[in-house]
Amino acid sequence: MNPPTDTDNLPVLDHYVDGGLTSGSSERLGDVFDPARGVVQRHVRLASAADVEAAVAVAKKAFSSWGQVSVAKRQAVMFSFRELLAARQGELAEILTSEHGKVLSDAAGEIARGLEVVEFACALPHLLKGSVSENVSTDVDVFSVKQPLGVVGVISPFNFPAMVPMWFFPIAIATGNCVILKPSEKDPSAANWMAELMTEAGLPPGVFNVVHGDKEAVDAILTHPDIASISFVGSTPIAQYVYETGTAHGKRVQALGGAKNHMLVLPDADLDLVADSAVNAGFGSAGERCMAVSVVLAVDSVADPLIEKIRERMSTLKIGDGRRGCDMGPLITRDHRDKVASYVDVAAADGATVVVDGRGDEVDGEPDGFWMGPTLLDKVPTTSTVYTDEIFGPVLSVVRVSGYPEGIELINSGPYGNGSAIFTNDGGAARRFQREVEAGMVGINVPIPVPVAYHSFGGWKASLFGDAKAYGPHGVDFFTREKAVTQRWLDPSHGGLNLGFPQHT
Ligand code: NAD
Repeated sequence: MNPPTDTDNLPVLDHYVDGGLTSGSSERLGDVFDPARGVVQRHVRLASAADVEAAVAVAKKAFSSWGQVSVAKRQAVMFSFRELLAARQGELAEILTSEHGKVLSDAAGEIARGLEVVEFACALPHLLKGSVSENVSTDVDVFSVKQPLGVVGVISPFNFPAMVPMWFFPIAIATGNCVILKPSEKDPSAANWMAELMTEAGLPPGVFNVVHGDKEAVDAILTHPDIASISFVGSTPIAQYVYETGTAHGKRVQALGGAKNHMLVLPDADLDLVADSAVNAGFGSAGERCMAVSVVLAVDSVADPLIEKIRERMSTLKIGDGRRGCDMGPLITRDHRDKVASYVDVAAADGATVVVDGRGDEVDGEPDGFWMGPTLLDKVPTTSTVYTDEIFGPVLSVVRVSGYPEGIELINSGPYGNGSAIFTNDGGAARRFQREVEAGMVGINVPIPVPVAYHSFGGWKASLFGDAKAYGPHGVDFFTREKAVTQRWLDPSHGGLNLGFPQHT
């Protein structure tokens, strides 16, 4: 069936609710670009509060049965989803490249990291096991079980349209919850594709619903009495708003925010490894990663040779349409591209050296694409907004420091605490860094320390509001409530009245 179209004759992406597409009641639409071509390629529905209400009612009804389905049957759905996703990941990668702009190989990497969480969710029977204490009192046993929350909300950002939803929905669903996912309206199609695949994998209708929208939909989710929890990923101001609003409405909230990740380079580091890592982590996905390295803190004695090595590598990068085998694609929108580009002038005005200016780079793509080539700035003052803002683009700043103490002081005095890395061959310095750095994820000679699915992902300070990180053991705890049961079976030796507080005998 052809998708519905609007007056521009462009396809319109509907919500995916109760196992099928629905247009809902709102007439508002958002533009979805092809960033490499600079054109609107489709529209997306922007839900009203009534549309959210309708989806929650569906999810609540589905929970009455899905919450009772056996662990084995839920696990079978996850295994089936894993197989389908592994087999058809190329289709999803094409959707990501078309709407986000990241190159196909990077899109494949995003899916691989999401797949890890799906595989983790396949092991849920093990993770859901409670604990038992036998004979805590004479003939009394205590055991604990983990039960689902009910209907849970997931609100995701534009930069990982497949992976970030997969940080949450596989674990939420495997533990018996029903999900309302509100993906970014900038690249929404991946969410529908994954929800449809879950249906194909055998998930009953209503367990996984996708509601598209903007602030109106988010606010309806945050305040809905039948939504038990919120898992949010996005910029820090919105994360803080989501955390405060969601908790004020009685919800369990994990809200992951923005970042400004540093890598500290000590003089004994392998500079080739450092240069490779800085370029990969600074310019991969055009710098639109919450774990991108945006600041290299170089101890003065290695700064010049390091910058030369980074510059050499940058000159080999091919910028262009992600479908054409390039290394780096466009930015997500024209506005964002222009904002990122404006930081080059700010840097120069603030006294930094513009080593490489990517604004006029040659590209293998349409001229209207949202292009901004890799940019390298040196001697960036820490008072400049280039240093203090999360730029979220291919702009790598070098700040020169006198040594380890100045470097760690700078990292720890910043507002964010997502990822931090040290490059050194000194085990003692690395160990000291690992203990002293104020960040939730630490890399030692690793620039983007995104933990594997069986550890949890999340930062400190303004990079995470709430106590629970994403996926891994935190994810299982977040999507379940523990119940402790104390039991005794009738025994003729027990009985009689005693109004005192129970004691163990
Ligand atoms: P964003 O905050 O603009 O949007 C995130 C979500 O919030 C989207 O679904 C969006 O529709 C919604 N939203 C936007 N404005 C809103 C408002 N005023 N009220 C309510 N909801 C609103 O973020 P983005 O631009 O999509 O993503 C980039 C940001 O996400 C960066 O700051 C990046 O660091 C961060 N991020 C963080 C992590 C992490 O793990 N910490 C991971 C990925 C991205």
